Amino acid sequence: MPISEYKLCVFGSGGVGKSCLTMQFVQGIFMPKYDPTIEDVYKKTVEIDEKQYSLEILDTAGTEEFSAMRDLYVKNGQGFVLVYSITSQATFNDLNEFYGRIMRIKDTELHGQPPLILVGNKSDLEDERVVGREVGQALARKWKSSFLETSAKDRANVNEIFFDLVRQINRSPNIASS
Ligand code: GDP
Ligand code: MG
Repeated sequence: MPISEYKLCVFGSGGVGKSCLTMQFVQGIFMPKYDPTIEDVYKKTVEIDEKQYSLEILDTAGTEEFSAMRDLYVKNGQGFVLVYSITSQATFNDLNEFYGRIMRIKDTELHGQPPLILVGNKSDLEDERVVGREVGQALARKWKSSFLETSAKDRANVNEIFFDLVRQINRSPNIASS
């Protein structure tokens, strides 16, 4: 059976847990101190709904202008993870810009919205929560995206992020073109 290869991108402000979520998914470990400047592509083969997938995940870094590599990756990317921390309102607000840039690069007017999931990470820090669950849900409704609260530390809902995206891609009518 042929393996489907999907390219996924993880976006969000520095410190929200993009690398920790990616590392937990790819390697099954929590790395509490991952170099914040590293931007790289990680690969993992997974079985989802009895089908094999080869996933390439771009873990982005830095908040400066999109790099050429990143733009190209977004162009070819099939699914997008937008991460904020439930302990930081600023990281939630920042997602608007990431969302806008992805939509522009993907030319959504022409192609429709790509598979997308909004992720509120650090759910283990309930005591420090400032972004309510329903606030995240409301933004996801507005964006017509999926929504999950996760903890890279406790490995809560981590696989679910990527499984949901793969299922969204499978349902997406534009998938055959890439
Ligand atoms: P990135 O800049 O978005 O890639 O963020 P990192 O993955 O490097 O994580 C930034 C910091 O948040 C690190 O100190 C991590 O240990 C911490 N962190 C990441 N995910 C979680 C989480 O789910 N819970 C808690 N408590 N800390 C987390
Ligand atoms: Mg990182």
